[in-house]
Amino acid sequence: MPRPVRVRFAPSPTGFLHVGSGHSALANWLVARQTGGEFLLRIEDTDAERNRPELVDNVLEMLQWLGLQWDGTPVHQSERGDLYADAAAKLVAGGAVYFCDCTAEDVQARNKAAGGKPGYDGFCRDRGLEPGPGRAARFRTPREGRTGWTDLVRGEVSFANADLEDFVVLRGNGSPVFLLANSFDDADMGITHVIRGEDHVNSTPKYLLLVDALGLTRPEAFAHMPLLVNEGRKKLSKRRDDVSMADYRDRGYLPEAMVNYLALLGWGPADGVEVRPVAEIVEQYRLEDVNASPAFFDQKKLSFVNAEKIRALSSEEFQARARPFLTLGEPAAAALASLATEVQERVRTLTEVEPMVEFLVVDEPEVDEASWTKAITKGKAVPEMLDATIARLDALGPDEWAPEPIQEAVAAAAIDAGLVNAEGGPQLSKAQGPVRVAISGRTVGPPLWESLTVLGRERTLARLRGTRGRLG
Ligand code: GLU
Repeated sequence: MPRPVRVRFAPSPTGFLHVGSGHSALANWLVARQTGGEFLLRIEDTDAERNRPELVDNVLEMLQWLGLQWDGTPVHQSERGDLYADAAAKLVAGGAVYFCDCTAEDVQARNKAAGGKPGYDGFCRDRGLEPGPGRAARFRTPREGRTGWTDLVRGEVSFANADLEDFVVLRGNGSPVFLLANSFDDADMGITHVIRGEDHVNSTPKYLLLVDALGLTRPEAFAHMPLLVNEGRKKLSKRRDDVSMADYRDRGYLPEAMVNYLALLGWGPADGVEVRPVAEIVEQYRLEDVNASPAFFDQKKLSFVNAEKIRALSSEEFQARARPFLTLGEPAAAALASLATEVQERVRTLTEVEPMVEFLVVDEPEVDEASWTKAITKGKAVPEMLDATIARLDALGPDEWAPEPIQEAVAAAAIDAGLVNAEGGPQLSKAQGPVRVAISGRTVGPPLWESLTVLGRERTLARLRGTRGRLG
């Protein structure tokens, strides 16, 4: 796709931006940036009842968060009603449509009686009805031939015209259907490549017939992106699956991780390096290489990509990105600064940051029950281990309060408590559990020696003694 393309993302703001639309938006943005083309935005807000302004705001905010900046001013379909009315009038004048007063029940009853296929049966085609209230305008689809297009994802696609019903173009109340607005706008906006979700494949032949009937120019090509599915291979649903883009942001995902991950749905770079800077994806992305079959939106893989992107940040950048997620404010930021590298290596999302440093901020860390059960209740020789650790750490002088001496002291305490392996060495991982829960209330956290160093001698000993006391 060497020449500059002109593409558009056309969200219907009837809900928050979901990952499936984000996937289509990204494909549009990638090819626009790759070819030095234009990425336009068209808000398909003609459904006055379901559209809400805050949903439009959400779409724009999410695109900006992802870094998918559009060109020019977004076009709002709600402001273009006159253009669609003109287009419709042209179809009426040219005889491309006819008027129809059948109710859905009429059509159903006739189809049932004929034992035929569902859809409109062409009953009013030659009745010559005049326009009037309650009369819909239906497109007179050709009875012969095929309507097809080049689909960059699906190859050459075509439908037999005989299989296309005479679809409604103007509703009984005179309002144009989405398909008319959509096909008119793409031509009017000079869109060269229509890139959108696969749910639009079946309506594309109708779209093309409309473009032709209006005497407009067809887009050069289409690309219908694969459907995103969940673990059960079911289409992602708002109700069942985590699909809101804003939720991912709020749960501590980085926009560059989301962009990288979405790009990998249905596509992969030739060299197999999946996690890489967005600039490289812009260069390498090929719609022609996108696989048409449904793509699994894999939360685990997304979280893996996110962890990689977090590790790729500089320490300063990591801390700055984590800052909005620190509910405990400045003290938490200071605590994070003291263990930034250790934390950065261990978190998968930015929401995991604060729990890792909270023990440095609060007077009394909250005890996580599952951690307590695992390391204290079910731990081996826990009272002995805590007694020995207290004694060994108490024996360290203030200038010995550093990761290495602390590690040696805990190792010696493990041996004192009988936590030894076959070679007589300390069982360090077993030994660490109760100590970690005593100082932080949790079994997961930054490396223990560094944690104790930063927590300080007095607080460490006080927490160990407190926990020991609770065991009686
Ligand atoms: N508004 C449509 C949707 O949200 C997109 C239509 C198109 O891209 O052509 O599914």
